[in-house]
Amino acid sequence: MLNWVKRLWSPGVAGNPARLRRKIELCNQVGLFGAIATIPYQLFYFFYDFALYRGVFLFNLLFMAAYLSVLLLNHRGWHKAARNVLLVNVCSQLFIVTSFIGSGAGVHLFYFTFASIVVFVFQCLSALRYAFIMVTLGVLYLSAHFLFAPGSVPAPVPSPWIDVMYAGSVAGVLALLGVFLYLFRKQIDEAEDELTRTNQYLETLSNTDPLTGLANRRVLDETLEQEWARLARWPGALSVIMCDVDHFKLFNDRYGHDGGDRCLQQITAALQGVLSRPADLLVRYGGEEFAVVLPGTDEAGSRYIGEKLRQAVERLNIPNEKSVTAACVTISVGVSGIDHFSPDANRHGVDHLLKRADQALYQAKASGRNQVVFLPYLGASVRAGQQ
Ligand code: GH3
Ligand code: MG
Ligand code: MG
Repeated sequence: MLNWVKRLWSPGVAGNPARLRRKIELCNQVGLFGAIATIPYQLFYFFYDFALYRGVFLFNLLFMAAYLSVLLLNHRGWHKAARNVLLVNVCSQLFIVTSFIGSGAGVHLFYFTFASIVVFVFQCLSALRYAFIMVTLGVLYLSAHFLFAPGSVPAPVPSPWIDVMYAGSVAGVLALLGVFLYLFRKQIDEAEDELTRTNQYLETLSNTDPLTGLANRRVLDETLEQEWARLARWPGALSVIMCDVDHFKLFNDRYGHDGGDRCLQQITAALQGVLSRPADLLVRYGGEEFAVVLPGTDEAGSRYIGEKLRQAVERLNIPNEKSVTAACVTISVGVSGIDHFSPDANRHGVDHLLKRADQALYQAKASGRNQVVFLPYLGASVRAGQQ
């Protein structure tokens, strides 16, 4: 929709929660529509016989001013006052205008429809409250209809204008319904878009580690489950690598927690630089532990990647003065993989793959750190240092 049209009903909208924003917008739209819809009636009263219709004309001026005041009230942040003015105004207009010109012109029909739309401006309307307001409006409409028959009012609309005005009122009702159904539909679409965006944002948030921007353990678990299911259906290989920064506690002690955080970010970038296949997944597994999932990668491939990861961190050459095993920051790497899916694999499940990579990492640590150890998915543990 054109921006300048939207701006017309924007007073007071900004800065409020989405739900209230929609109500304020609707309130402003109804206020504007009420003022504009009264203009054709006013033109008739003014040009046809101003002396006869002066009373209803002046009242309508008041009603129009009240409709427009709704925008001002919303602009000031007085949203409750705005919606109350709107409802009282439309009910008064229904009753007073009909009392002047009679019910034959159908003006009360138009304002009854209008009032039923105004009801939606109210927040958290329960079904009972809604039904009560609608019955009240219905009673008002019927009273106006039967109390103000054309013969008993001070300024009746003569024929054939009464038919023109009736047709105009019905057309007004239809236009009113058309416009507001369209606006409601737009509001629903916008609310849905907003919800989708929020959900996407929350999903990203729940899957991402804030310090490194890497996926977190939740994504690791999901990916492993998916890859395991794929492996069960199609022959192939799957490998997992666990990396843990060596003597990181000492690093933190020496360079502070902020220095440790920066170090983890540098390590992340180095590890990411090693992985080139789109299917490879690097996650932050825990504090200073990273995990890599390598779908379609066999033992030789995963050993090779594990070693490249180790070298990439070593090449960063970040001093770790307190470390007893190396002068700079290093990582220990545990690798495990399965090259063929078997009934045994089916029994042990994917958790066993992670467990074996963890055991391999433990061996790498025990053997002096800064090295890669591979353990196959099933079978006896191999000696540390094997690469
Ligand atoms: P090892 O070689 O045996 O792995 O020794 P380590 O000191 O790295 O092992 P340990 O598990 O005892 O210590 C891990 C340290 O990592 C302790 C913790 O303060 C630090 N750490 C964990 N998460 C973060 C983090 O997000 N930022 C920083 N700066 N430090 C972290
Ligand atoms: Mg650790
Ligand atoms: Mg560590």
